[in-house]
Amino acid sequence: MSANGPRPAPGRAWLGYLAVGLVAIAVYYAIPRQGFGVAARVVMYCLTSTSAAAVVLWTALRQRTGARAPWLLLGLSQVVYSIADCTFYIHHYLLGLTGFPSPADAFYLGHYPLTVAALLLLIRRRTPGRDLQSALDASVLAVVAAMLSWLYLIGPRARLDQPLLVTVTSVAFPVMDLAMLAVALRLFMGTGTRSGSFVLLATNLLAILTADTVYVVQQLNGTYHAGNFLDAIWLAGNLALGAAALHPTVAAVAEPTAARENVLGPGRIAALCVAALTAPVMLVVQHATGRFHDIPVIATACAMLFVLVIARLAALVADQRRLAITDALTGLHTRRFFVAQLPVEVERARRAGGSVAVFIVDVDRFKSINDGHGHPAGDQVLIEIAHRLRRAARAGDVVARYGGEEFALLAPGVRPAELADIAQRLRDSVAGRPIAATDTVWIGATVSVGAACCPEHGGDPADVIAAADRSLYAAKVSGRDRAVVGPSRPDCDPAMVDHLCRVADQVDQRLSAPHNSRAVGRWARLLAAELGHDEHGVHVAGLAGRLHDVGKIVIPDSVLTKPSALDPEEWRLVRQHSDYGFRLADTIPGFFPVAQTILQHHERYDGSGYPQGLAGNAIRWEARLVAVCDVWAALLTDRPHRPAFTAAEARDVLCSGRGTLFDPDVVDLFLELHADGRIDAPDLDRVGG
Ligand code: GH3
Ligand code: MG
Ligand code: MG
Repeated sequence: MSANGPRPAPGRAWLGYLAVGLVAIAVYYAIPRQGFGVAARVVMYCLTSTSAAAVVLWTALRQRTGARAPWLLLGLSQVVYSIADCTFYIHHYLLGLTGFPSPADAFYLGHYPLTVAALLLLIRRRTPGRDLQSALDASVLAVVAAMLSWLYLIGPRARLDQPLLVTVTSVAFPVMDLAMLAVALRLFMGTGTRSGSFVLLATNLLAILTADTVYVVQQLNGTYHAGNFLDAIWLAGNLALGAAALHPTVAAVAEPTAARENVLGPGRIAALCVAALTAPVMLVVQHATGRFHDIPVIATACAMLFVLVIARLAALVADQRRLAITDALTGLHTRRFFVAQLPVEVERARRAGGSVAVFIVDVDRFKSINDGHGHPAGDQVLIEIAHRLRRAARAGDVVARYGGEEFALLAPGVRPAELADIAQRLRDSVAGRPIAATDTVWIGATVSVGAACCPEHGGDPADVIAAADRSLYAAKVSGRDRAVVGPSRPDCDPAMVDHLCRVADQVDQRLSAPHNSRAVGRWARLLAAELGHDEHGVHVAGLAGRLHDVGKIVIPDSVLTKPSALDPEEWRLVRQHSDYGFRLADTIPGFFPVAQTILQHHERYDGSGYPQGLAGNAIRWEARLVAVCDVWAALLTDRPHRPAFTAAEARDVLCSGRGTLFDPDVVDLFLELHADGRIDAPDLDRVGG
């Protein structure tokens, strides 16, 4: 009996109905076709047809809202159909009116749209959302059916020399049948349960379509006569519809199903293959028989089939891709997708001067959850944790299942200062409430979170992952159920930094400006602190200022200290120093932010700088500071081709570049600090960073 219907339908009523109906059909054929027998036959036929309408309408009214509309439409369709039957048999047998079209045909034709509408409603109910693949499969079969119908039913009828009304009516039947077939195919090929009621409904549709088709063929070759074996098929079809409505699973026909992966099984492949080959076979048949007709129709069918098959292929590929990047248990992205996406986001961040964060989340002592409550309960916990992490993340973040009980979050645009909050939010989202592992078991699961940011904690994807992993490890060893954020200072080898500082001093010596890099480092640190950056930011800005020109170490003296103007080739050489500096600095582990600032210290606010032509905030803020400090130091220093500027002249230069070459806020701050006497002279030989 139906679990969904409001009142249980009698379990075997449908069988009883079918049995009585089949007896009625037998009686119908047994009744003699003379005298009262004729009237009795008409009554038998009309009763059988009408009974189906009554049964379906009765069932429809007992259905819940969702299932009611399609069954109501099917019932109405059957009402119209039985009116057509009654009209036809009374006209034909009792009144002796055998003309075509008859008033019955209006009713016969009228039932199709109702059936089509009912089937469309069923399709929508059974497959919420889209089911492109089923639609394409159904379309392939429908196109072939349409072609065959045109070749053997519609075309021949249309070409007969008949009154217009006769032609239109006789063509309308196969056209309506086609529409019904197309929708029925979509229903059969789509997702949803194939319950007993569904099978009976399908039987009804197939019976009507078969009988209709044979009817048109018989009409064409003049062999049709009312009351022949086709009546049995039509009646059986009606009975199948009634039985479908009485079947205990009637409500399930309109039940939505969880989207089942649409399996392209051997049966379906064979059907599609036969269908796609039908059109070319028709051409071969015509070639063999020498009777050519409707070639454009066949060609059109071939073209449509071709397009549909390609579309099917594309849909299949898209589906496979979706499967490959979706974790089957949790519905999150797979590790494969995460690993592919990370370099894309890292590169995007690098170009835009932004950052990207990686969080790795590992369930604490998950083995004991499995051991204590069983693997299925463990799975349930993983599913719920995945949901919670997804909800805790922002819409654009990638949330992936990174390993068995390990998850990863990729969050573009997240700055180092935000890492701790987000990591904590992820932790809280899991630990906040117990998780229902089964109907009766609730588990309080916790997670450890490791977080890291690019470029702060690593310049390339592998480095950020490694940094996040180290943080996760730190969270685990310090007791679990906590979030740890990547190292806040570049944990680099002091000896290597020292070495680079000596390189910077050598460059200063060669430029006869022995204190410039120390001064730039000092001022950059001061500006960073004044702008409110944290200790880590101040440290990076200071180091980058100190080391901004290390790349000049490889530029020959003849170019570096040339008293006259540089030629283009020499300029090209000089302009490479920021890139050389970057490469030198980037050899130190954890030094990427400093290295990137060195790379960008000749970028200009309006995009006119080098090497990448970055503009505005796409330039690292540290590089925008270093640019101003570097220019200030250079202006105040004697150069082979010009004497040093005075402070007032240098102020004018900065002012004229404010907002074009230089970040206006940085210039304003710098000049303010200078006016306050806090920007010291470049040659003050203090101990630099
Ligand atoms: P720790 O706090 O150190 O992370 O301890 P742990 O027990 O979580 O870590 P460990 O790596 O030792 O155990 C992970 C367990 O996760 C072992 C494995 O059987 C289980 N696991 C991995 N994938 C699945 C899965 O898909 N479903 C279930 N139920 N368990 C899984
Ligand atoms: Mg683990
Ligand atoms: Mg674990």
